[in-house]
Amino acid sequence: MMYEFKVGWCPFCDQGWVEIVKNQMTEELLLYCNECNTNWKTYDDFKKDDIPAYFRQYEEVEFEVDCEAEFSFNIIKPTYQEIINIGWDKYIFKD
Ligand SMILES: [Zn+2]
Repeated sequence: MMYEFKVGWCPFCDQGWVEIVKNQMTEELLLYCNECNTNWKTYDDFKKDDIPAYFRQYEEVEFEVDCEAEFSFNIIKPTYQEIINIGWDKYIFKD
């Protein structure tokens, strides 16, 4: 199922859903738009960004985002239990 863990529409590119994903290297969950690769470390940060925060977001990530292919490789889908563990399950959009 696509966009199973979506939390909102991307405020930056206005073209994609923002989803909960997992950074495979750090094993941290983050919010991520796979249309523009913008990402947020917390839900509060995401909600603050109804204006574009493109450059700031890129500075905050701990891994290389210049190469889209490399970035995608490090993003994996978390389990629902992992999302519950950090309390983000309440943010998931229910259709
Ligand atoms: Zn986007």
